[in-house]
Amino acid sequence: MNAYAPLLAGLIALLAGLAIGKAWERYKLQDGHWIDRRRARESPHYILGLNFLVSNQIDLAIEELSKAAQLDADALEIHMILGNLYREKGQVGRAVNVHQGLLRRPKLTRLEHAYVLLCLGLDFKRGGFVDRALEAFNEVLRLDAGNQYALVNLEKLYEEQHQWQEAHRTREQLAKLTQADEQPRTQAILAFLENELGLQAMKRGAYPEAAQRFERAIDLDPQVVPAYLNLGDVRLHEGATADAVGIWERVIAVAPERAYLTFDRLAGAYPQMGAPDRFPALCRRLIATNPQDWRARLALSRHLAAHGRVDEGLHLLFDALVQNPHALTIHQAIWQSLAALDLERGLVDRYVELTRHAVFYLDPHVCIRCRYRSTELLWQCPHCHEWNTFVEERIAPAQDGHQADV
Ligand SMILES: [Zn+2]
Repeated sequence: MNAYAPLLAGLIALLAGLAIGKAWERYKLQDGHWIDRRRARESPHYILGLNFLVSNQIDLAIEELSKAAQLDADALEIHMILGNLYREKGQVGRAVNVHQGLLRRPKLTRLEHAYVLLCLGLDFKRGGFVDRALEAFNEVLRLDAGNQYALVNLEKLYEEQHQWQEAHRTREQLAKLTQADEQPRTQAILAFLENELGLQAMKRGAYPEAAQRFERAIDLDPQVVPAYLNLGDVRLHEGATADAVGIWERVIAVAPERAYLTFDRLAGAYPQMGAPDRFPALCRRLIATNPQDWRARLALSRHLAAHGRVDEGLHLLFDALVQNPHALTIHQAIWQSLAALDLERGLVDRYVELTRHAVFYLDPHVCIRCRYRSTELLWQCPHCHEWNTFVEERIAPAQDGHQADV
Protein backbone atom coordinates (compact mmCIF):
# COMPACT_ATOMS: atom_id res chain seq x y z
CA MET A 1 0.00 0.00 0.00
CA ASN A 2 1.41 3.35 -1.04
CA ALA A 3 1.27 6.34 1.27
CA TYR A 4 -0.34 8.35 -1.50
CA ALA A 5 -3.21 5.93 -1.93
CA PRO A 6 -5.89 7.59 0.24
CA LEU A 7 -4.95 11.03 -1.04
CA LEU A 8 -5.01 9.76 -4.57
CA ALA A 9 -8.45 8.28 -4.11
CA GLY A 10 -9.73 11.73 -3.16
CA LEU A 11 -7.93 13.29 -6.07
CA ILE A 12 -9.41 10.84 -8.55
CA ALA A 13 -12.84 11.48 -7.10
CA LEU A 14 -12.23 15.16 -7.66
CA LEU A 15 -11.07 14.53 -11.20
CA ALA A 16 -14.12 12.41 -11.89
CA GLY A 17 -16.29 15.21 -10.52
CA LEU A 18 -14.61 17.65 -12.86
CA ALA A 19 -14.67 15.42 -15.89
CA ILE A 20 -18.17 14.04 -15.82
CA GLY A 21 -20.02 16.22 -13.34
CA LYS A 22 -22.68 18.74 -14.09
CA ALA A 23 -20.19 21.52 -13.56
CA TRP A 24 -18.17 20.28 -16.45
CA GLU A 25 -21.20 20.01 -18.73
CA ARG A 26 -22.24 23.56 -17.95
CA TYR A 27 -18.74 24.76 -18.42
CA LYS A 28 -18.56 23.24 -21.88
CA LEU A 29 -21.89 24.74 -22.91
CA GLN A 30 -21.10 28.20 -21.66
CA ASP A 31 -17.59 28.42 -22.92
CA GLY A 32 -16.39 28.96 -26.47
CA HIS A 33 -13.08 27.16 -26.01
CA TRP A 34 -14.24 23.64 -26.74
CA ILE A 35 -11.82 23.09 -29.65
CA ASP A 36 -8.82 24.46 -27.76
CA ARG A 37 -9.44 22.36 -24.75
CA ARG A 38 -10.01 19.29 -26.83
CA ARG A 39 -6.58 19.83 -28.32
CA ALA A 40 -4.99 19.78 -24.90
CA ARG A 41 -7.14 16.90 -23.70
CA GLU A 42 -6.47 14.83 -26.79
CA SER A 43 -2.73 15.33 -26.60
CA PRO A 44 -0.72 12.24 -25.68
CA HIS A 45 0.71 14.20 -22.74
CA TYR A 46 -2.70 14.55 -21.16
CA ILE A 47 -3.56 10.87 -21.60
CA LEU A 48 -0.10 9.79 -20.40
CA GLY A 49 -0.36 12.13 -17.45
CA LEU A 50 -3.67 10.62 -16.37
CA ASN A 51 -2.24 7.13 -16.77
CA PHE A 52 0.72 7.97 -14.57
CA LEU A 53 -1.68 9.48 -12.10
CA VAL A 54 -3.73 6.30 -11.92
CA SER A 55 -0.58 4.21 -11.42
CA ASN A 56 0.53 6.55 -8.62
CA GLN A 57 3.59 7.91 -10.45
CA ILE A 58 3.09 11.48 -9.36
CA ASP A 59 6.32 12.97 -10.70
CA LEU A 60 5.79 11.57 -14.20
CA ALA A 61 2.15 12.68 -14.10
CA ILE A 62 3.28 16.23 -13.30
CA GLU A 63 5.79 16.17 -16.16
CA GLU A 64 3.26 15.05 -18.78
CA LEU A 65 0.42 17.26 -17.56
CA SER A 66 2.76 20.27 -17.55
CA LYS A 67 3.43 19.62 -21.23
CA ALA A 68 -0.30 19.27 -21.92
CA ALA A 69 -0.91 22.54 -20.08
CA GLN A 70 1.57 24.31 -22.36
CA LEU A 71 -0.53 23.33 -25.37
CA ASP A 72 -3.47 25.25 -24.01
CA ALA A 73 -2.72 27.88 -21.39
CA ASP A 74 -6.47 28.34 -20.80
CA ALA A 75 -7.11 24.70 -19.91
CA LEU A 76 -8.26 25.43 -16.40
CA GLU A 77 -8.74 21.86 -15.26
CA ILE A 78 -5.21 20.76 -16.21
CA HIS A 79 -3.69 23.58 -14.16
CA MET A 80 -6.05 22.77 -11.36
CA ILE A 81 -4.92 19.11 -11.40
CA LEU A 82 -1.26 20.17 -11.52
CA GLY A 83 -1.77 22.29 -8.45
CA ASN A 84 -3.43 19.33 -6.73
CA LEU A 85 -0.47 17.13 -7.59
CA TYR A 86 1.96 19.61 -6.07
CA ARG A 87 -0.16 19.52 -2.94
CA GLU A 88 -0.14 15.72 -2.84
CA LYS A 89 3.65 15.83 -3.11
CA GLY A 90 3.71 18.14 -0.10
CA GLN A 91 4.62 21.26 -2.10
CA VAL A 92 1.81 23.25 -0.55
CA GLY A 93 3.21 26.71 -1.34
CA ARG A 94 3.48 25.86 -5.00
CA ALA A 95 -0.04 24.43 -5.05
CA VAL A 96 -1.39 27.60 -3.42
CA ASN A 97 0.39 29.74 -6.03
CA VAL A 98 -1.07 27.75 -8.93
CA HIS A 99 -4.59 27.84 -7.57
CA GLN A 100 -4.46 31.50 -6.55
CA GLY A 101 -3.19 32.27 -10.06
CA LEU A 102 -6.24 30.53 -11.52
CA LEU A 103 -8.55 32.54 -9.25
CA ARG A 104 -7.18 35.76 -10.78
CA ARG A 105 -8.37 34.75 -14.24
CA PRO A 106 -10.92 37.28 -15.47
CA LYS A 107 -13.68 35.12 -16.90
CA LEU A 108 -14.22 32.32 -14.44
CA THR A 109 -17.76 30.99 -14.21
CA ARG A 110 -19.30 30.63 -10.78
CA LEU A 111 -18.68 26.88 -10.73
CA GLU A 112 -15.12 27.16 -11.98
CA HIS A 113 -14.51 29.68 -9.25
CA ALA A 114 -15.99 27.23 -6.72
CA TYR A 115 -13.84 24.33 -7.89
CA VAL A 116 -10.61 26.33 -7.82
CA LEU A 117 -11.49 27.58 -4.33
CA LEU A 118 -12.10 24.02 -3.26
CA CYS A 119 -8.61 23.06 -4.45
CA LEU A 120 -7.19 26.06 -2.61
CA GLY A 121 -9.05 25.05 0.54
CA LEU A 122 -7.49 21.58 0.30
CA ASP A 123 -4.05 23.21 -0.11
CA PHE A 124 -4.57 25.28 3.04
CA LYS A 125 -5.88 22.26 4.91
CA ARG A 126 -2.85 20.23 3.90
CA GLY A 127 -0.55 23.06 4.95
CA GLY A 128 -2.24 23.31 8.34
CA PHE A 129 -3.71 26.79 7.68
CA VAL A 130 -7.00 25.95 9.32
CA ASP A 131 -8.63 29.39 9.27
CA ARG A 132 -7.84 30.00 5.63
CA ALA A 133 -9.06 26.50 4.73
CA LEU A 134 -12.33 27.10 6.59
CA GLU A 135 -12.73 30.40 4.80
CA ALA A 136 -12.12 28.81 1.39
CA PHE A 137 -14.57 25.94 1.93
CA ASN A 138 -17.26 28.29 3.21
CA GLU A 139 -16.73 30.46 0.17
CA VAL A 140 -17.13 27.37 -2.06
CA LEU A 141 -20.49 26.73 -0.41
CA ARG A 142 -21.57 30.33 -0.96
CA LEU A 143 -20.95 29.78 -4.69
CA ASP A 144 -22.18 26.19 -4.84
CA ALA A 145 -24.36 25.30 -1.87
CA GLY A 146 -24.53 21.61 -2.75
CA ASN A 147 -20.79 21.01 -2.94
CA GLN A 148 -20.31 17.81 -0.99
CA TYR A 149 -16.51 17.88 -1.10
CA ALA A 150 -16.51 21.25 0.59
CA LEU A 151 -18.99 20.07 3.22
CA VAL A 152 -17.06 16.89 3.98
CA ASN A 153 -13.80 18.79 4.34
CA LEU A 154 -15.44 21.46 6.48
CA GLU A 155 -16.86 18.81 8.77
CA LYS A 156 -13.46 17.15 9.21
CA LEU A 157 -11.80 20.50 9.94
CA TYR A 158 -14.42 21.34 12.55
CA GLU A 159 -13.98 17.91 14.10
CA GLU A 160 -10.22 18.35 14.25
CA GLN A 161 -10.80 21.67 16.03
CA HIS A 162 -13.35 20.00 18.36
CA GLN A 163 -15.97 22.45 17.07
CA TRP A 164 -18.63 19.79 17.43
CA GLN A 165 -21.59 22.13 16.99
CA GLU A 166 -20.31 23.34 13.62
CA ALA A 167 -19.35 19.81 12.58
CA HIS A 168 -22.87 18.66 13.46
CA ARG A 169 -24.49 21.46 11.46
CA THR A 170 -22.28 20.63 8.47
CA ARG A 171 -23.11 16.94 8.64
CA GLU A 172 -26.83 17.81 8.73
CA GLN A 173 -26.40 19.83 5.55
CA LEU A 174 -24.57 16.91 4.01
CA ALA A 175 -27.31 14.52 5.09
CA LYS A 176 -29.81 16.39 2.92
CA LEU A 177 -27.58 15.79 -0.11
CA THR A 178 -26.65 12.15 0.37
CA GLN A 179 -28.33 9.06 -1.03
CA ALA A 180 -30.74 6.94 0.96
CA ASP A 181 -28.24 4.08 1.24
CA GLU A 182 -25.82 6.38 3.06
CA GLN A 183 -28.39 7.32 5.69
CA PRO A 184 -27.28 4.78 8.32
CA ARG A 185 -23.71 6.06 8.15
CA THR A 186 -24.93 9.64 8.35
CA GLN A 187 -27.07 8.79 11.39
CA ALA A 188 -24.06 7.14 13.03
CA ILE A 189 -21.86 10.19 12.46
CA LEU A 190 -24.55 12.53 13.78
CA ALA A 191 -24.87 10.27 16.81
CA PHE A 192 -21.14 10.45 17.54
CA LEU A 193 -21.24 14.24 17.14
CA GLU A 194 -24.20 14.47 19.56
CA ASN A 195 -22.15 12.37 21.97
CA GLU A 196 -19.24 14.81 21.72
CA LEU A 197 -21.63 17.72 22.33
CA GLY A 198 -22.92 15.86 25.36
CA LEU A 199 -19.38 15.46 26.70
CA GLN A 200 -18.80 19.18 26.25
CA ALA A 201 -22.00 19.91 28.18
CA MET A 202 -20.86 17.54 30.92
CA LYS A 203 -17.55 19.36 31.25
CA ARG A 204 -19.48 22.61 31.71
CA GLY A 205 -21.51 20.89 34.43
CA ALA A 206 -24.68 21.11 32.31
CA TYR A 207 -25.86 17.60 33.16
CA PRO A 208 -29.49 17.82 31.93
CA GLU A 209 -28.32 19.05 28.53
CA ALA A 210 -25.64 16.36 28.44
CA ALA A 211 -28.21 13.65 29.18
CA GLN A 212 -30.46 14.98 26.39
CA ARG A 213 -27.56 14.87 23.94
CA PHE A 214 -26.64 11.32 24.87
CA GLU A 215 -30.27 10.20 24.59
CA ARG A 216 -30.55 11.82 21.18
CA ALA A 217 -27.34 10.10 20.09
CA ILE A 218 -28.83 6.73 21.07
CA ASP A 219 -32.07 7.56 19.23
CA LEU A 220 -30.07 8.41 16.11
CA ASP A 221 -28.03 5.24 16.25
CA PRO A 222 -28.56 2.59 18.93
CA GLN A 223 -25.02 1.30 18.24
CA VAL A 224 -23.31 4.44 19.53
CA VAL A 225 -21.71 2.84 22.57
CA PRO A 226 -20.02 5.86 24.21
CA ALA A 227 -23.40 7.61 24.53
CA TYR A 228 -24.66 4.79 26.78
CA LEU A 229 -21.51 4.93 28.89
CA ASN A 230 -21.78 8.69 29.27
CA LEU A 231 -25.54 8.73 29.87
CA GLY A 232 -25.01 6.18 32.63
CA ASP A 233 -22.28 8.40 34.10
CA VAL A 234 -24.74 11.31 34.20
CA ARG A 235 -27.38 9.17 35.94
CA LEU A 236 -24.79 7.95 38.45
CA HIS A 237 -23.77 11.55 39.09
CA GLU A 238 -27.45 12.35 39.76
CA GLY A 239 -27.55 9.51 42.27
CA ALA A 240 -29.75 7.25 40.12
CA THR A 241 -27.50 4.19 40.34
CA ALA A 242 -30.10 1.66 39.19
CA ASP A 243 -30.87 3.80 36.12
CA ALA A 244 -27.16 4.03 35.34
CA VAL A 245 -26.79 0.27 35.61
CA GLY A 246 -29.78 -0.28 33.31
CA ILE A 247 -28.26 2.01 30.68
CA TRP A 248 -24.83 0.39 30.85
CA GLU A 249 -26.37 -3.05 30.62
CA ARG A 250 -27.96 -2.04 27.32
CA VAL A 251 -24.44 -1.83 25.84
CA ILE A 252 -24.08 -5.55 26.48
CA ALA A 253 -27.23 -6.20 24.47
CA VAL A 254 -26.54 -3.87 21.51
CA ALA A 255 -22.76 -4.37 21.23
CA PRO A 256 -21.59 -7.44 23.16
CA GLU A 257 -18.05 -7.04 21.78
CA ARG A 258 -17.89 -3.68 23.62
CA ALA A 259 -19.44 -4.99 26.85
CA TYR A 260 -16.08 -4.75 28.60
CA LEU A 261 -16.29 -0.95 28.49
CA THR A 262 -19.01 -1.20 31.15
CA PHE A 263 -17.07 -3.56 33.43
CA ASP A 264 -15.41 -1.04 35.76
CA ARG A 265 -18.62 0.93 35.99
CA LEU A 266 -20.81 -2.08 36.72
CA ALA A 267 -18.29 -3.64 39.10
CA GLY A 268 -18.51 -0.42 41.13
CA ALA A 269 -22.26 0.10 40.86
CA TYR A 270 -23.65 -3.40 41.61
CA PRO A 271 -22.33 -3.50 45.20
CA GLN A 272 -23.77 0.02 45.74
CA MET A 273 -27.16 -1.44 44.78
CA GLY A 274 -26.66 -4.25 47.27
CA ALA A 275 -26.16 -6.81 44.49
CA PRO A 276 -22.45 -7.73 44.56
CA ASP A 277 -23.05 -11.11 42.90
CA ARG A 278 -24.37 -9.61 39.71
CA PHE A 279 -20.91 -8.73 38.40
CA PRO A 280 -19.35 -12.21 38.49
CA ALA A 281 -22.64 -13.61 37.17
CA LEU A 282 -22.49 -11.18 34.24
CA CYS A 283 -18.89 -12.21 33.44
CA ARG A 284 -19.77 -15.89 33.52
CA ARG A 285 -22.77 -15.29 31.27
CA LEU A 286 -20.61 -13.42 28.75
CA ILE A 287 -17.99 -16.19 28.75
CA ALA A 288 -20.67 -18.82 28.24
CA THR A 289 -22.16 -16.84 25.34
CA ASN A 290 -18.80 -16.13 23.73
CA PRO A 291 -16.01 -18.50 24.76
CA GLN A 292 -13.45 -16.17 23.15
CA ASP A 293 -14.31 -13.33 25.52
CA TRP A 294 -10.93 -12.83 27.19
CA ARG A 295 -11.94 -9.48 28.68
CA ALA A 296 -14.78 -11.02 30.69
CA ARG A 297 -12.29 -13.62 31.97
CA LEU A 298 -9.84 -10.89 32.92
CA ALA A 299 -12.56 -8.95 34.73
CA LEU A 300 -13.82 -12.04 36.52
CA SER A 301 -10.28 -13.01 37.56
CA ARG A 302 -9.79 -9.56 39.07
CA HIS A 303 -13.07 -9.88 40.91
CA LEU A 304 -12.09 -13.31 42.25
CA ALA A 305 -8.60 -12.13 43.24
CA ALA A 306 -10.14 -9.23 45.15
CA HIS A 307 -12.18 -11.82 47.06
CA GLY A 308 -9.18 -13.99 47.93
CA ARG A 309 -9.66 -16.53 45.11
CA VAL A 310 -6.39 -15.80 43.29
CA ASP A 311 -5.76 -19.36 42.14
CA GLU A 312 -9.20 -19.66 40.52
CA GLY A 313 -8.67 -16.30 38.83
CA LEU A 314 -5.28 -17.32 37.49
CA HIS A 315 -6.78 -20.21 35.57
CA LEU A 316 -9.24 -17.82 33.97
CA LEU A 317 -6.28 -15.66 32.96
CA PHE A 318 -4.56 -18.63 31.34
CA ASP A 319 -7.75 -19.28 29.35
CA ALA A 320 -7.86 -15.59 28.39
CA LEU A 321 -4.26 -15.77 27.23
CA VAL A 322 -5.08 -18.57 24.83
CA GLN A 323 -7.69 -16.30 23.24
CA ASN A 324 -5.44 -13.25 23.06
CA PRO A 325 -1.77 -13.97 23.71
CA HIS A 326 -0.77 -10.39 22.84
CA ALA A 327 -2.76 -8.53 25.46
CA LEU A 328 -0.27 -7.06 27.90
CA THR A 329 -3.06 -6.45 30.40
CA ILE A 330 -3.52 -10.22 30.74
CA HIS A 331 0.21 -10.78 31.27
CA GLN A 332 0.32 -8.09 33.92
CA ALA A 333 -2.62 -9.67 35.75
CA ILE A 334 -0.96 -13.09 35.52
CA TRP A 335 2.26 -11.78 37.05
CA GLN A 336 0.31 -10.17 39.88
CA SER A 337 -1.44 -13.46 40.55
CA LEU A 338 1.76 -15.50 40.32
CA ALA A 339 3.43 -13.13 42.76
CA ALA A 340 0.47 -13.43 45.13
CA LEU A 341 0.84 -17.23 44.93
CA ASP A 342 4.60 -17.01 45.68
CA LEU A 343 5.51 -18.07 42.09
CA GLU A 344 4.21 -21.59 42.47
CA ARG A 345 6.43 -23.65 40.17
CA GLY A 346 3.71 -25.54 38.25
CA LEU A 347 1.81 -22.34 37.47
CA VAL A 348 4.92 -20.50 36.29
CA ASP A 349 5.77 -23.41 33.97
CA ARG A 350 2.24 -23.34 32.57
CA TYR A 351 2.57 -19.60 31.88
CA VAL A 352 5.95 -19.98 30.17
CA GLU A 353 4.52 -22.71 27.95
CA LEU A 354 1.50 -20.58 26.99
CA THR A 355 3.59 -17.51 26.08
CA ARG A 356 6.37 -19.28 24.19
CA HIS A 357 5.36 -17.93 20.80
CA ALA A 358 3.52 -14.75 21.73
CA VAL A 359 4.35 -11.22 20.62
CA PHE A 360 3.30 -8.50 23.02
CA TYR A 361 1.07 -5.53 22.38
CA LEU A 362 -0.74 -3.53 25.01
CA ASP A 363 -4.27 -3.76 23.59
CA PRO A 364 -3.97 -3.80 19.84
CA HIS A 365 -6.68 -2.18 17.71
CA VAL A 366 -6.64 -1.40 14.02
CA CYS A 367 -8.67 0.99 11.83
CA ILE A 368 -10.50 -1.11 9.23
CA ARG A 369 -10.52 1.85 6.84
CA CYS A 370 -6.86 2.93 6.78
CA ARG A 371 -5.14 0.21 8.88
CA TYR A 372 -3.95 2.75 11.45
CA ARG A 373 -2.87 0.86 14.56
CA SER A 374 -3.62 2.01 18.04
CA THR A 375 -2.88 0.55 21.44
CA GLU A 376 -6.45 1.20 22.55
CA LEU A 377 -9.98 1.49 21.19
CA LEU A 378 -10.58 4.92 19.64
CA TRP A 379 -13.96 6.22 18.45
CA GLN A 380 -12.47 8.42 15.74
CA CYS A 381 -9.39 7.45 13.76
CA PRO A 382 -6.58 10.03 14.18
CA HIS A 383 -5.29 9.12 10.73
CA CYS A 384 -8.29 8.95 8.37
CA HIS A 385 -10.71 10.71 10.81
CA GLU A 386 -13.45 8.16 10.19
CA TRP A 387 -15.80 7.30 13.05
CA ASN A 388 -16.10 3.91 14.73
CA THR A 389 -13.67 2.01 12.51
CA PHE A 390 -11.50 0.35 15.15
CA VAL A 391 -11.60 -3.38 15.70
CA GLU A 392 -9.55 -5.46 18.04
CA GLU A 393 -6.52 -6.86 16.26
CA ARG A 394 -6.18 -10.56 16.92
CA ILE A 395 -3.15 -12.48 15.78
CA ALA A 396 -3.81 -15.70 17.69
CA PRO A 397 -3.95 -18.86 15.56
CA ALA A 398 -7.52 -19.58 14.55
CA GLN A 399 -9.07 -22.38 16.57
CA ASP A 400 -12.68 -22.24 15.57
CA GLY A 401 -12.61 -20.34 12.33
CA HIS A 402 -14.07 -16.97 13.31
CA GLN A 403 -11.62 -15.52 15.78
CA ALA A 404 -9.75 -13.12 13.48
CA ASP A 405 -11.19 -9.63 13.30
CA VAL A 406 -8.60 -8.63 10.72
ZN1 LIG B 1 -8.38 5.26 9.96
